[in-house]
Amino acid sequence: MKIPIAIVGGGPAGAHLGYCLASEGIKATIFDDSHPREKPCGGGISALALKKFPLLRGLHYDDNDDWLKLVSPDGKEALVTGDEETSAFSRKRMDMFILNKAIDAGSNLVEERVVDFERSGDVWKIKTNRGAYEANVLVGADGVNSLVRRKLIGPIPKEHLGVCLGVFAKSPRHAEEMTTIQFLKGMEGYAWLFPREEDLSIGVGTVLENGKHLKAELDKFLKKYAGHTQILSSWGAMLPMPKHEGFFRLPAAGDDWLLVGDAAGHVDPMMGAGITYALWGAEVAAKAIASADVKSYDKMWREEYGRDILEGIKMRRLLSHKTMLEIFIRLSARSRTFGNVMCGLVDSEQDYRTVWKVILKSAPRILYELL
Ligand SMILES: Cc1cc2nc3c(=O)[nH]c(=O)nc-3n(C[C@H](O)[C@H](O)[C@H](O)COP(=O)(O)OP(=O)(O)OC[C@H]3O[C@@H](n4cnc5c(N)ncnc54)[C@H](O)[C@@H]3O)c2cc1C
Repeated sequence: MKIPIAIVGGGPAGAHLGYCLASEGIKATIFDDSHPREKPCGGGISALALKKFPLLRGLHYDDNDDWLKLVSPDGKEALVTGDEETSAFSRKRMDMFILNKAIDAGSNLVEERVVDFERSGDVWKIKTNRGAYEANVLVGADGVNSLVRRKLIGPIPKEHLGVCLGVFAKSPRHAEEMTTIQFLKGMEGYAWLFPREEDLSIGVGTVLENGKHLKAELDKFLKKYAGHTQILSSWGAMLPMPKHEGFFRLPAAGDDWLLVGDAAGHVDPMMGAGITYALWGAEVAAKAIASADVKSYDKMWREEYGRDILEGIKMRRLLSHKTMLEIFIRLSARSRTFGNVMCGLVDSEQDYRTVWKVILKSAPRILYELL
């Protein structure tokens, strides 16, 4: 079967791209055989993302969770609050919601798994577990282990990967649960507890090479913050965690292909959050495809949000020093204004490019609060 645009993967990146293209009158075909499914994830979305992507507003629920507990590697706790509320969603609900929007707008979902593809002249020959297709443009929206990426530019190198272990759980006092983030001691990464509409996502993540310590870290965190909960299921997952700028030297697009979301490695390098960039990348990719200049996506995403990802790498480096984290969290505990900035940083409300300016501008107030 001949199709114009083949999107491999119907997670937030692929589904949102399908939606944006359909809104431009371009019919895309999304390949994904996994829905409905829960994905190992916090499901956390900043208020900024909820504002930027009006599509998500239909998902919103009132979670009454205005405070965030930040915990330093030594266990110092700071209660911080941001200007805007963040929310966390089940990925079964969120992904299905976006995918349905794409289908309603005119995209086609093929519930098959892409097992191989090759270029033949100026078309892509795509093989799935059940059929064969031909497409003019191929999009890799197939996540961290992307087949499209692997075959076109190679897999995400190990040094740029992270690994997570976690559980979904039920709490007998769900309404009182507070979003909690504890930075790990002696290694990069953090543990989290995110209350969602119906459950809690609790997990711990670090760089791949420290993966062997994760089970012990998860057990410690569960004991301290989730001893009262009932574990529903356990999981492990990988995610892109760009370590240095060199990762982005490879192009994310060619004349008739492009990569979006995790497949492109477009995540917040400090926190590993990628839903916002998956949606943002999809919007940029749709513009490039609609302008019949697919390759321009590679320039466009760098201009739109590339700088922020690069600044995030620098922040990751800075906060990989335990002393820095201890200072930041202790300052957050004593200054509401500083805590506000830290809250914005971890929930993606505050971008990495302007954070130092914001801190400098607020310095007199921070000093006043500290004294
Ligand atoms: C434990 C964990 C916690 C996280 N917490 C957060 C968080 O709180 N907030 C946040 O913003 N980000 C978080 N992230 C990151 C976030 O999950 C990803 O950045 C986001 O899902 C990327 O979206 P995507 O569409 O690119 O990829 P995915 O969501 O991975 O979707 C890819 C889709 O492609 C499909 N697929 C794969 N291969 C094929 C194939 N060959 N053929 C057809 N279909 C295929 C898959 O079934 C899947 O549906 C977390 C990640 C992990 C691992």
